[in-house]
Amino acid sequence: MNLWKMYHSTLPSDIWTMDYLKSKIFRIVSSAAKEQGVRAFVIGGYVRDCFLGRPCKDIDIVVEGSGIALAELVAKRVGSKLSVFKNFGTAMLRFREDRRSDEWMEIEFVGARKESYRRESRKPIVEDGTLEEDQQRRDFTINALAFSLQEEDYGALVDPFNGMEDLRNGLIRTPLDPDTTYSDDPLRMIRAIRFATQLGFTIVPESLESIRRNKERLSILSRERIAEELNKILKAAKPSTGFYLLEDTGLLEQFLPQISRLKGVETLEGKGHKDIFAHTLQVLDNICPNTENLWLRWAALLHDIGKPSTKKYEPGVGWTFHSHDFIGGKMIPGVFKQLKMPLNEKMKYVQKIVQLHLRPIALAQEEVTDSAVRRLLFDAGDDVDDLMTLCEADITSKNDKLVQKHKRNFALVREKLVEVEAKDAIRNFQNPITGEIIMQKYNIPPGPAIGIIKEYVKEAILEGEIENNFEQAYALMERKAAELGL
Ligand code: ATP
Repeated sequence: MNLWKMYHSTLPSDIWTMDYLKSKIFRIVSSAAKEQGVRAFVIGGYVRDCFLGRPCKDIDIVVEGSGIALAELVAKRVGSKLSVFKNFGTAMLRFREDRRSDEWMEIEFVGARKESYRRESRKPIVEDGTLEEDQQRRDFTINALAFSLQEEDYGALVDPFNGMEDLRNGLIRTPLDPDTTYSDDPLRMIRAIRFATQLGFTIVPESLESIRRNKERLSILSRERIAEELNKILKAAKPSTGFYLLEDTGLLEQFLPQISRLKGVETLEGKGHKDIFAHTLQVLDNICPNTENLWLRWAALLHDIGKPSTKKYEPGVGWTFHSHDFIGGKMIPGVFKQLKMPLNEKMKYVQKIVQLHLRPIALAQEEVTDSAVRRLLFDAGDDVDDLMTLCEADITSKNDKLVQKHKRNFALVREKLVEVEAKDAIRNFQNPITGEIIMQKYNIPPGPAIGIIKEYVKEAILEGEIENNFEQAYALMERKAAELGL
């Protein structure tokens, strides 16, 4: 659904901004600014989101003067703790309407500023400035809107770049020449795509062209900032919008070449394979209504990255991608490293899901045996439901009959998983026979026999030869130990 259409119907034709300044905090800021003889405005995301009807608890106040000094006075009046960031000239406090409320707003104060950039850095040279100069340094017209907090025109919309018009028309446009805006701070190119994705907006053609022209400027960005924006794109309702734009503008290949590389169709002997890039993005969109889990969305994005390097044309068979699940899994740490994302349990989770993503498919195609289900439960553990969610999203065939058939098979696999788990409790499998037990019973030091016995018992449980309980496992240990001459 086009989100913009939804918002559009809610946009007032008469702008009655006072409704958006109902919180007590705005009057308090207004009177404190008057006392200090400075002009203060609400600016940026909060104003934009008011008009879009999006919830927003972060309020940015820009002051023609010292942001920190105004924040200090406001903090004193509301009795709140103030965090001051001297280096940035900003200060932040938290506010709630009354003591019983657990809804906190974060109010950030900053002095209006004028910025000039050097070519090699995102860090501008900053000078004090006016509201208008401050609005000029904003990334997009829809993010440059401001509400006045002056008594004489309280609530007036200050919109020198027609941001309201762009908001109504669902357009992303820079306040200044896009080449200047993007080259000054290339993060804005990815932010443009991120907002287009989150809001269902369109980037105006001259801006899109400018992103294409300035794509090399991405090199001055830190990978962490890129990853932050990517996460926001992935959290949107339809992330494919963002990835198509990233690819189309030439940005994607600079920080995620593994995904860019999925694009294209090769044909041999009249047989083509499907475009893996389009398929991947379809899978990603498919999974979104079923999970808010960012890392499962990452797994959806990365699930087929092993395909290009395993692609083969086998005469008489067609295109194959043998072991792309395994190779894809191996590639995951590299992708995380390249985006400076932590190589922690989240990475391992994504890797595991990618590595296992064919297993339920294989299961659904054969007769679903208990032992195959037990093995899947053993390998996936608590992530088995997420794995199933990915596999269901992975059905992108246009043949409706086939889709229905796959869905029925997966439903069967899910039923079987529940049934087998209830019986055998494999999800968090702990071998009933530990190394300790074996060493004590046979009075032997650590050595290869222990591993052999443990593996034997585990295999027997997974194969269903014995039940997953201590008595049967112990008896089997005794038999195997005798065989080994212990
Ligand atoms: P979100 O909270 O979804 O990230 P936002 O617009 O509130 O959206 P912030 O990153 O909090 O985004 O930025 C607040 C405001 O600061 C923006 O609305 C915009 O006016 C300005 N801004 C943020 N980043 C930039 C940037 N890189 N260049 C120019 N202006 C920016």
